[in-house]
Amino acid sequence: WRSTASRVVASLKNELLQSRSFIRGMKTVTLIPGDGIGPEISAAVVKIFVAAEVPIEWEERNVTAVQGPGGKWMIPHDAKESMDKTKIGLKGPLKTPVGAGHPSMNLLLRKTFDLYANVRPCVSIEGYDTPYTDVNLVTIRENTEGEYSGIEHVIVDGVVQSIKLITEQASHRIAEYAFEYAKNNQRSSVTAVHKANIMRMSDGLFLRKCREAAEKHKDIKFTEMYLDTVCLNIVQDPSQFDVLVMPNLYGDILSDLCAGLIGGLGVTPSGNIGAHGVAIFESVHGTAPDIAGQDLANPTALLLSGIMMLRHMGLHSHAQKIETACFDTIQDKKVLTKDLGGNAKCSEFTEVICQRV
Ligand code: NAD
Repeated sequence: WRSTASRVVASLKNELLQSRSFIRGMKTVTLIPGDGIGPEISAAVVKIFVAAEVPIEWEERNVTAVQGPGGKWMIPHDAKESMDKTKIGLKGPLKTPVGAGHPSMNLLLRKTFDLYANVRPCVSIEGYDTPYTDVNLVTIRENTEGEYSGIEHVIVDGVVQSIKLITEQASHRIAEYAFEYAKNNQRSSVTAVHKANIMRMSDGLFLRKCREAAEKHKDIKFTEMYLDTVCLNIVQDPSQFDVLVMPNLYGDILSDLCAGLIGGLGVTPSGNIGAHGVAIFESVHGTAPDIAGQDLANPTALLLSGIMMLRHMGLHSHAQKIETACFDTIQDKKVLTKDLGGNAKCSEFTEVICQRV
């Protein structure tokens, strides 16, 4: 009864805090600092948000792997409870052990909250030297099925089969999401990326659902393109693309290619949108164990993910203010972290952005 009682007390405490926040016009966001450089870059984002007077309160939760009944891997109860309540999270990178141990916590978060749409805006940053200066596109990746459904088995010794699962329901909701996203973000076209010429049934179904969504959203231009043609065209002239929607595996690969067009994972944000109103925003790079704890990390990707989150929450003026401060700092080139071509520490780069907001 003790644990039930303490849970009731904790839940009452939470409700009280929530209502106090509501009175002050504050929104609560779950902060998952993550591993490696995660705590450093999370602290940087929190500092910049405070300087910009963003009306949110953070509820910090660690996401470490825990085993539930029957040895099933789960995310910790208090992290799930917080996400269920706040519905919105900002997350640093989480490490995944190679070969053995717990499964990817990113995957578990995705499954737990049915985060079906992975959204990655790739926009060239003015003044940051990259091979392209005019990239302004968004990849929308179906996040729950395709080749990543985890259905694999040995048929006979030396022959394995991996199932690509495509469903009408998941294809419909991601296609709808892509058109709604285009509308809500003043974008004019959606391209469905597929290989329906080869995978006629699976990609064929995905494409059919995209075509149906296009019929419904006639104000948004719709095109369809083979994955290989997209790859060729995107490195020749990325400016021709706007919103791209695709199945899971293609999205995993193409979204990293697009990050490369704008200068890499250090400046690429992402959002994972769920079916039940939950959304988790995260930097797409990993835990960078080689530089962790040395005040060398670039917080830009997590900061831009936080800015995406603010727009998702309707806090547009705060998002704009912080984005301008961040991009001006990069354009100025005086105080940059090592990966951006400078010598500054994470804390020094953060401080300059704080002064600008
Ligand atoms: P990584 O992204 O952590 O590092 C690759 C290289 O980029 C390293 O040299 C690193 O120092 C650099 N780097 C990455 N982010 C940086 C930043 N913000 N500022 C400056 N430099 C940065 O990739 P990895 O080494 O393959 O993965 C390390 C761990 O991260 C693994 O356990 C992996 O599973 C995990 N990971 C997590 C996520 C996530 O949580 N979304 C994504 C990718 C990898």
